[in-house]
Amino acid sequence: MAEIGIPQRPLRVAVVGSGPSGFFAAESLLKSLVVCAVDMFERLPVPFGLVRGGVAPDHPKIRSASRVFEKTAEHERFRFFGNVTVGRDITVEELRRFYDAVLLAYGAEGDRSMNVPGESLPESHAATEFVGWYNAHPDYRDRVFDLSCETAVIVGMGNVAMDVARMLAAPVDILKDTDIADYALDALAESRIREIHIVARRGPAQAKFTLPELKEMAEIPGATPLVESDEFTFTLACRQEIEASPGLKRIVEVLEEYSRNRPGNGRNIRFRFFLSPVAVLGKDRVEAMCFERTRLAGEPGNLKAWGTGALVDIPCGLVFRSVGYRGRPIPGVPFNEKTATIPHTAGRVEDNGREIPGLYVAGWIKRGPTGVIGTNKPDSLETVKTLLSDLERLTPCAEPDSQAVENLLRERGVRVVSFDDWKRIDAEEIARGARKGKPRERFSRVEDMLAVLDS
Ligand SMILES: Cc1cc2nc3c(=O)[nH]c(=O)nc-3n(C[C@H](O)[C@H](O)[C@H](O)COP(=O)(O)OP(=O)(O)OC[C@H]3O[C@@H](n4cnc5c(N)ncnc54)[C@H](O)[C@@H]3O)c2cc1C
Repeated sequence: MAEIGIPQRPLRVAVVGSGPSGFFAAESLLKSLVVCAVDMFERLPVPFGLVRGGVAPDHPKIRSASRVFEKTAEHERFRFFGNVTVGRDITVEELRRFYDAVLLAYGAEGDRSMNVPGESLPESHAATEFVGWYNAHPDYRDRVFDLSCETAVIVGMGNVAMDVARMLAAPVDILKDTDIADYALDALAESRIREIHIVARRGPAQAKFTLPELKEMAEIPGATPLVESDEFTFTLACRQEIEASPGLKRIVEVLEEYSRNRPGNGRNIRFRFFLSPVAVLGKDRVEAMCFERTRLAGEPGNLKAWGTGALVDIPCGLVFRSVGYRGRPIPGVPFNEKTATIPHTAGRVEDNGREIPGLYVAGWIKRGPTGVIGTNKPDSLETVKTLLSDLERLTPCAEPDSQAVENLLRERGVRVVSFDDWKRIDAEEIARGARKGKPRERFSRVEDMLAVLDS
């Protein structure tokens, strides 16, 4: 068998997805002693996954994580194939013809539903859609949100829910200096939302957000974070959980401060606890959300919410469910419908327990939609370690010619966007932003991104 992983014949790896997990994996492969050539496939003409399309515009420091990824992209053995959807423009099976290993890092772009009646009523949305909309993601660019109502309800209490609440509560004067999509800024400028409820099934000690995101709520000019005092309660097991975790203790202390606030004249952000979704109510559109009051039972660390039978309606004109992202299958690759992830051991994909050397997985599609950008680094390193340890048993690909994949895509009429092409789009976005006093004005349509390259 021909030796692979040497300068004359690098190990050829296709990475699918250009988010943090894809880039962390690429970086690790390129730094390895095994000589690797990495081609990264991304369905959009623009890279960086949720760092661009998820992280909130008022968190520019976090968005700048992409600078590290740019360094990786400069490597001479790295190529970017933007505007290529794997599973549509080229299949995973075809990639395996051109690459010794395929590493799937395509994230979890779907969303979980609440599974309650009325969920599909107009003005009941997934947080995913709202996030993509204000971030100029082409998939969500044409979504319309009716912000003319007074009350919005966000179901779920993780950091994505906090982002959505902050974007609804923040004054436009603050947002206008960010790279938020221009159409979203215009719509938010007209918003009449005054009351924002962030609702959790369990109690203050089980909230999923992190401390900085919670504290930020008190820093939004004109907004008041509130906690209903009768929902700020703890069982003995909750108190034990809090005592065991200094981080949680701090979160509860901040929530306690918020419970002493009185509603303000501006926007109120109400943290609501012990409410489980029952139905979205309304005739032709959202008019209210019905919840069942819950109570907690179980051991510390494993407290579950149980319905009490008491119903609570929150009148509202807008509902965002923020109950989790969900991975989607890709044709030809095993998929666990229950966990919505690709089954694997240490990153090597498995089909019914049978290993598939040559096929790997990293990031949200590997472990589910949890964790921050940095969480993906050890996750991707684990996968790369497994991949490299398989070196001896990988079947070298049939067509190692680095031009072959480009030729195939060209024959299929796919307009491939290289990393240099992306840099031109990037420069144009920054120039458009500068004209408006913003760090960047993003393109929100694929055709507009491609038009920059044809101009
Ligand atoms: C709304 C939101 C806000 C967040 N805010 C923060 C934050 O402030 N700080 C923080 O540290 N973390 C934040 N995170 C978490 C962080 O973004 C994730 O941990 C991380 O992006 C997951 O990386 P990933 O590479 O697995 O997936 P993704 O970032 O989703 O990347 C997947 C990539 O694959 C591409 N892709 C999908 N399907 C295909 C296909 N078929 N072919 C080719 N390409 C494909 C996608 O377009 C995407 O570019 C946030 C997450 C969300 C959802």
